[in-house]
Amino acid sequence: MVSPAQQNGANGVNPAEEIEQFDAIVIGAGVTGLYTSYCLRNHGMRVRVFEDGDGVGGTWYWNRYPGARFDSESYTYGYSFSEELLQEWDWKELYSGQPENERYLNYVADKFDLRQYIRFNSRVKGCYFEEDRNTWRVEIEDGHKARAPFLVTAVGLLSAFYVPDFEGLDTFQGQWCHTGRWPKEGMDLAGKRVGVIGTGATAVQLITEIAKEVGHLTVFQRTANYCAPLRNRPITDEEHREIRANYPEIFRRCAETAGSFVHMFDPRSALEVSAEQREEQYERLWHEPGFAKWLSNFYDVMLPGEANEDYAEFVRNKIRERVHDPEVAEMLAPKDHMFGSKRLPCESGYYEVYNRDNVLLVDVKKAPIQRITPTGLATADAEYDLDVIIFATGYDAVTGSLTRIDIRGVGGGKLTDKFANGPRTYMGIQSSGFPNMFTVNAASVGNFVRAAEPLVEWVTECIRYVRENEYVRISPTAEAEDEWVNHVNEEGSKILRSQANSWFVGANIPGKARALLTSPDTAPVMRAKRADVAAKGYEGFLLE
Ligand code: NAP
Repeated sequence: MVSPAQQNGANGVNPAEEIEQFDAIVIGAGVTGLYTSYCLRNHGMRVRVFEDGDGVGGTWYWNRYPGARFDSESYTYGYSFSEELLQEWDWKELYSGQPENERYLNYVADKFDLRQYIRFNSRVKGCYFEEDRNTWRVEIEDGHKARAPFLVTAVGLLSAFYVPDFEGLDTFQGQWCHTGRWPKEGMDLAGKRVGVIGTGATAVQLITEIAKEVGHLTVFQRTANYCAPLRNRPITDEEHREIRANYPEIFRRCAETAGSFVHMFDPRSALEVSAEQREEQYERLWHEPGFAKWLSNFYDVMLPGEANEDYAEFVRNKIRERVHDPEVAEMLAPKDHMFGSKRLPCESGYYEVYNRDNVLLVDVKKAPIQRITPTGLATADAEYDLDVIIFATGYDAVTGSLTRIDIRGVGGGKLTDKFANGPRTYMGIQSSGFPNMFTVNAASVGNFVRAAEPLVEWVTECIRYVRENEYVRISPTAEAEDEWVNHVNEEGSKILRSQANSWFVGANIPGKARALLTSPDTAPVMRAKRADVAAKGYEGFLLE
């Protein structure tokens, strides 16, 4: 008898089977996938993009929940690669909402004629490295297949949505959804009894919007978050003219900061000024829009220690001022993690929601959710009747969007096995044993587009270099990868971002290994490291 492998030839594929051939395959048509396809096309490569959704936008396609909007200033978030695009597009608000963000990415796709490369409704099931050909075979859930020497996974860092494995969810008779898969047609919440699980940045935006519309809202909070006023507003015509004239300066400023935002830390310590000066600065920044109160503050507010705790108490007091019921205010004031150890959710009236008669806050740390019932939800000490349950329960961040795909490299090695104890990569870009596969989803936890654009340019230039020099494989050396993993672990353990139990370190997903999922280095340091590696002929990579 002929085994399926013999029948299908050495690389497991039936020779008669039709497989589309390309120079490069990109997974994802979000912010990074769109730009990757643009850059590769400009290098004269035949590109195919596979996108799960039926439109472009990635994060800004899926996250249609009410209230979804930027926390970076809109005019710093757009692509910088085209002066024409910058001059044509005026953001309407300081912190633009999902509908406009999705429109922008559609505008980019059309302007640069990128739609022709994208196959929509194409969820990638598996990616298999074909050693005899030095190609990746990519298989789509609908049976479609494609092959290319290079694979770029532009799968997003917060796209593998997480729904806790609560017993009984299948018995629930009402409607439920995760915020990252909000239905296109919307959800009818008017007058309904709605439960929201989670109080992260997503929930904070959502809750504020829907509280006005629902009949009754129950918020199930496990961990309180430090949240600060966004202070969003329309951008005036005068400001539009100014922004258009100043893009080089805006982007230069972003390029200098750790997280690629426009905000720059005050070089003074909070502890070297008087209590009055400190309070004056805290108050002034509190009234500025966006992340200024976080990222323009005294530098040591963002370091573990006394200054951090001083500011944390300032924020707690702001919460106490806004919430009428002192007991509820204390539930909302975080005491179990440091300010800034999670990304600061920005809000527009979030705390006032808890002064409404139709809103109830439930502490599910004290009495955890035990199961979903046909009529609602049961915690350890009560049952709640609900018509709708909304999971604002976050993401299996960074690695989840890769490990949910069956990715197999040299010798059939599985990426899930390789990442079992945390990601093992070189600079977050490649992992040894997976040649010619590049990852651009770990670009940044800061202002994503500012950090992602140079990373995409580096990766696409690297691919051009490999092709032009007629190499067939590129992958990191084992030494370079080991050194990088050690660097992430050692330096990562010192920064604020790794201190809390958050998605930054995989602590939000039961069973996921605790490890910093992104680089501990600042954006300027990462750009310099990558530039140095490239200048030295891709030092740390094996070119075959
Ligand atoms: P998240 O920060 O991970 O929050 C998830 C929430 O669900 C947390 O409150 C978590 O509680 C709760 N949760 C998870 N499992 C639970 C369980 N079994 N029982 C009870 N509660 C549970 O996710 P997110 O809010 O979607 O935000 C993720 C990231 O997306 C943010 O950090 C930010 O970077 C980004 N984001 C940005 C914006 C923006 O303004 N541009 C908006 C939204 C999101 P614990 O904290 O106790 O785990």
